[in-house]
Amino acid sequence: MAGLNSNSHSPSSFKMPTIKFSKLFINGNFVDSVSGREFETIDPRNEQVIARIAEGTKEDIDNAVKASRVAFDDGPWPRMPGVERARIMMKWADLIDENREELAALDAIDAGKLYHMLKAFEIPAAANTLRYYAGAADKIHGEVLKPARELHAYTLLEPIGVVGHIIPWNFPSPIFFTKVSPALAAGCTMVLKPAEQTPLSALFYAHLAKLAGIPDGVLNVVPGLGPIAGAAICSHMDIDKVSFTGSTEVGREIMHAAANSNLKPVSLELGGKSPLIIFDDADLDKAVELAFLGVMHNKGEICVAGSRVFVQEGIYDEFEKRLVEKANTWVVGDPFDSKVQQGPQACSNVVAQTHYVDKKQFEKIMSYIEHGKREGATLITGGKRVGNQGYYIEPTIFTNVKENMAIEQDEIFGPVMALMKFKTIEDAIKSANNTRYGLAAGIITKSLDTANTVSRSIRAGIVWINCYFAFGGDIPYGGYKMSGFGRDCGLEALHKYLQVKSIVTPIYNSPWL
Ligand code: NAD
Repeated sequence: MAGLNSNSHSPSSFKMPTIKFSKLFINGNFVDSVSGREFETIDPRNEQVIARIAEGTKEDIDNAVKASRVAFDDGPWPRMPGVERARIMMKWADLIDENREELAALDAIDAGKLYHMLKAFEIPAAANTLRYYAGAADKIHGEVLKPARELHAYTLLEPIGVVGHIIPWNFPSPIFFTKVSPALAAGCTMVLKPAEQTPLSALFYAHLAKLAGIPDGVLNVVPGLGPIAGAAICSHMDIDKVSFTGSTEVGREIMHAAANSNLKPVSLELGGKSPLIIFDDADLDKAVELAFLGVMHNKGEICVAGSRVFVQEGIYDEFEKRLVEKANTWVVGDPFDSKVQQGPQACSNVVAQTHYVDKKQFEKIMSYIEHGKREGATLITGGKRVGNQGYYIEPTIFTNVKENMAIEQDEIFGPVMALMKFKTIEDAIKSANNTRYGLAAGIITKSLDTANTVSRSIRAGIVWINCYFAFGGDIPYGGYKMSGFGRDCGLEALHKYLQVKSIVTPIYNSPWL
């Protein structure tokens, strides 16, 4: 078993990066919050305070919105030729590459993410998302229409205005760029609130944006608490759109706030409880690998985690055996150690006046594990805390899971798998769709017919066949059902930040009509 005495790695002697940016970034400057309040951001490896961060409240959001509004109404950004916006965005992406190691270290200490994965994949992917949308900035155009013989019409795609972005902590860098990149390409200006758990890289990105030449007021980054700074964004009368990634519960509050203020459109990327369906004909080694990583990667803190694994009865027993073997070799420990495969769960230390508590995420996962045992599911591996300092949890697998148990229906957002058996393709489709969520799904089979049937039948925004977590800036993803609406990534996302204006004019006396 991966645990304290076997595969765990103790904290490395990695030197903590210096925290250079801890204030709010408003109108091109790093400033204190109006209230002077601060909150702590915590290292989940050792529960120590990394830094104190200026806490944005309603007044700071107001100031950021004012700067954004001026930048939108009078500034150069929305009026620039797309190619010029693209040039600046490309420069920003290059600066990210140049600072890759420092950015990776910031996300690793703030969120307990693996440093080597951040450096090799997540930070480069974030920069590439920016490049993808930079490439789109000069290709935004409407259509020419011919509604009637004497009428000429055309559409313009105009930037929607001042955007409020609210993002979570599990992928601080990639999600930052899936939000700001299409909005920038569209010519919008914006206020972004990072999660209170992970403000560090967002502030560093703001600094790099300024160096790249993004004009003052176009991008404002205001760390703060969800119910205070986040809520102020959603109810603000001068924000034209909110783009949110986070939990379904908070998504609901965001819609209420938008409806009760200026009816701003919202797009919601929410939670999931995604199924992975493995058929008898699957390559077993590959299936075990995909299933295990499908939920344990990033310590299970992934919206699209394949946390419900359905395995066909012919291979079930052997699959279960190999899955446990895989868990036994899995290394939990310090995310700066290149041998480690799973770091600590992220955490926040925001107590004070809100419902936030230290270790919230860690305790939520542990309580679901206890609940699963009480509900009668069988714990076949894991289930315990690793060590007594930091928020480490063993990779955990339950069998004998019944549909509608809490561990089968609720998003745990941790390294916990519900493993289930099925007989027929029809059973698999029915069980997979038995969820209020619809974010993602995976299918492992060698049969094209099976893959086609199942991928068409699953109600989810993305379906992976013989792979999992295959993402790219150009692949749209988002939710069906209570996983939200709107899409991030791809040209799909660009249109969230544009609105259509139709222009119609008569044509007189043309011989060519
Ligand atoms: P969360 O909903 O608690 O917080 C997300 C963000 O919303 C944070 O910045 C938080 O400060 C803010 N917030 C909290 N309360 C708010 C309020 N009342 N008004 C406005 N903003 C508020 O989610 P989390 O715990 O940070 O992230 C985990 C959740 O995010 C999971 O449910 C996960 O599935 C989801 N997620 C979804 C996607 C996706 O693309 N669909 C991607 C990553 C994470």
